[in-house]
Amino acid sequence: MLLTISCTRPEGAAWPASDLGFLLHKNPSRIQTFEQSYGVAHVLYPQAAEERCTSALLLEIDPVRLVRGKSRGAPEFSLAQYVNDRPYAASSLVSVAISTVFGSALHGRCAQRPELAETALPLRIELPAVPCRGGAAEAERVFAPLGWTVDATPLPLDPAFPEWGDSHYLRLELRGTLRLADALAHLYVLLPVLDGSKHYFLDTAEIDKLLRFGAGWLAAHPERTWITRRYLARRHSLVHAALARLAELDDREPEELGAVEENSDDLAAELASATAGFALGPVAGVGEATGESVGDRGPSLAVLRRAAVIGALRGAGASRVLDLGCGEGALLRELVADSGFSEIVGVDVSIRALRIAQRRMRRLPERQAQRVSVRQGALTYADASLRGYDAAVLMEVIEHVDPPRLGALEHTVFGAAAPRAVIVTTPNSEYNALYETLTAGTFRHSDHRFEWSRAEFAQWAGRVGETYGYGVRFEPVGPEDPELGASTQLAVFTRTTEEMGAA
Ligand code: SAH
Repeated sequence: MLLTISCTRPEGAAWPASDLGFLLHKNPSRIQTFEQSYGVAHVLYPQAAEERCTSALLLEIDPVRLVRGKSRGAPEFSLAQYVNDRPYAASSLVSVAISTVFGSALHGRCAQRPELAETALPLRIELPAVPCRGGAAEAERVFAPLGWTVDATPLPLDPAFPEWGDSHYLRLELRGTLRLADALAHLYVLLPVLDGSKHYFLDTAEIDKLLRFGAGWLAAHPERTWITRRYLARRHSLVHAALARLAELDDREPEELGAVEENSDDLAAELASATAGFALGPVAGVGEATGESVGDRGPSLAVLRRAAVIGALRGAGASRVLDLGCGEGALLRELVADSGFSEIVGVDVSIRALRIAQRRMRRLPERQAQRVSVRQGALTYADASLRGYDAAVLMEVIEHVDPPRLGALEHTVFGAAAPRAVIVTTPNSEYNALYETLTAGTFRHSDHRFEWSRAEFAQWAGRVGETYGYGVRFEPVGPEDPELGASTQLAVFTRTTEEMGAA
């Protein structure tokens, strides 16, 4: 795998092009070698002259080491782990190498030539083989808006048999006048995006990387949604969180970045559109526990869940409603649209989520906005101001609470707030077996502390009802399997006792 970076001396410049060596923190006069977890990286300079300097990053990838270094959560054994394109093609491993071998340059640090690090330089970047299923147009679309002149040439499957057509690899050449740190950040983020198959396990630290190295360009990029989605390998919860944070950076609504159209959280459709090229469309959004696909058509689980909750609230004749653990306010938005709900209060412990919820509220017509409010609060502490409402919703919340703290939440909701009705939804763990993307024994969301079977939920609900004087019935929500039940389980608690005296 090879990446070359060339710099030509701008006309009239007082410095030699070989100062590129200072910027990269790599001396042009010798070959340097760096041990990496996946093999060896070499940096050498085919040319280091006054007028022009070229630095080459050469990765010798050891597929066996690559497999051994894999973290938990990586796919199980297969031959493809050993026999693949990694030794030849510029992919996410180049990003890893850029950050480890050219880390200072990527961060724009250069003690010896600080002014040069800040200067846009005439650069040319060449990659002889970049995996890019979307073809040359895709490479053009991600790099060109950043100021690059893009020359992408598809490589034939086999030069001896032109009739076989092109492979999904490109020879990529980028020319532009940019700061070196920006150029490296573009490669760092966009090469894995073009490749589309990240080789390591994704967690939320990936969002931080994306935002750190996307700073200054990603929020304004016309393909930011697609880039974010691909960079995060279509992990919906991560994509959603990243877009929300990008929106915050840009002081824009996440919707404007394409974040919150729940209807499309359908992996199959997404994959199809991603391979078809740039069908940008709305992104999955939802994040929270709802990234599951629910078939090709029809509303997503998140949509069905909100409809079921609203149906249960109407059934309970509720008018003044608490949405406890309201998150970013997706349910609040629907509740406020129904004038049958006269007062709606959202409570959440997360300031970040509340800020997003509040921003959405700001755009409501005055009359609606008056009926809804949000406030911060932890449900594990009783709060007298939550008393006196008709109903409370705990939608996909209990599974975020540590089991030892669940008793405190039960007291806050059923004991202290004690509305006439409480509606609780939570994942049905039995149904997880049907989610192909979910490894056995893992939860639907990294923040879940538990996921219950129908029996476990029924047992919990029965005990809580008995303790606090509520009757309980259950409803399936979302796609339903005759054996495993529905994806989401919903319980409606109805108080059987008269309201106790004021708390
Ligand atoms: N009800 C929303 C959000 C579910 S995500 C929806 O279905 O879309 C779970 C939410 O519960 C998160 O926003 C989290 O911040 C909140 N949460 C978790 N523990 C909490 C606690 N102890 N007190 C208040 N909110 C809590």
